[in-house]
Amino acid sequence: MFATSRQDRTFLPAEEFCPLCPSRPGGPPTEIPMAAFEVVVFENRFPALVRSPPEPDVVGSSLYPVAPAIGATEVVVYSDDHHRGLAEMDVARIARIVDVWADRYAELGRRDEVAYVFVFENRGVAVGVTLHHPHGQIYAYPEIPPRARQELDVALAHIAAHGTCVYCDVVARERADGVRVVAQNRSFLAFIPFAARFPYEVHVTSLRHAASLLDLTDPERLALAEVLQQVVRAYDGLFGFPLPYVMSMHQAPTDDGEHQHVSHLHIEFTPLHRTAQKLKYLAGSEIGAGAFLNDTSPEESAARLREVGRGGP
Ligand SMILES: [Zn+2]
Ligand SMILES: [Zn+2]
Ligand SMILES: [Zn+2]
Repeated sequence: MFATSRQDRTFLPAEEFCPLCPSRPGGPPTEIPMAAFEVVVFENRFPALVRSPPEPDVVGSSLYPVAPAIGATEVVVYSDDHHRGLAEMDVARIARIVDVWADRYAELGRRDEVAYVFVFENRGVAVGVTLHHPHGQIYAYPEIPPRARQELDVALAHIAAHGTCVYCDVVARERADGVRVVAQNRSFLAFIPFAARFPYEVHVTSLRHAASLLDLTDPERLALAEVLQQVVRAYDGLFGFPLPYVMSMHQAPTDDGEHQHVSHLHIEFTPLHRTAQKLKYLAGSEIGAGAFLNDTSPEESAARLREVGRGGP
């Protein structure tokens, strides 16, 4: 996607000029014309994908095909409190955010031109955040993006070979092994994957087979909120500062395909830190060869996260 207008977007404004804070009486107007709110969703002012895109600036060919940037990019503001993120809010408030994610997945996914709804959060300057106010984003793509495509292909191959969902098998194995588990409750499991790419990568996966948030009951949404809070609190306790991360939610595509048995709802957290001072940089092997090198053991990292999670606030 090319979105050259995004170069002009707001970059780390001082707190009093935060565009995601409520518009308070006497204060400057913000993106949100309300004095208080729980969760707010609006279209990104610097969108990469839009409902009625202009024709591409360049002419395509069979070698270089181009298409208009159709879709949607939305901002989800988690709270009206500039300093209250997922780690600081109570579970019921996080469950409201889960409800909003589910609503937007349904609404955007219903649009004919939307093949995949991607819920994500970039947190921290280390992952390129331009606004500190706790918020996430939703991109609605006109096609299934490459990582989601790869996951589907692997899941399909696993079904062909074993007749089972690979995520259901992984969840059963992780619960049995226990050594990579970070947190769990009646409906969700948080664990460091066996072949983790990043030192503190954590996947939060539904215990039962659910293709998207829409398959969850209300108690299950609450259980998801609970585990998300535990993971983020463990992260924040790890080095004593809010750990920058990318959070990616993978759900069933919303194209015309049949994905109910292939897609299994999960959320991937990928923090970049390997120690308090050091970041894991993607370098030769990762960027050039696509082969990740991880210098920590998932079992030790999981034990550390379990420990700080227990001792957390
Ligand atoms: Zn703010
Ligand atoms: Zn499954
Ligand atoms: Zn995934």
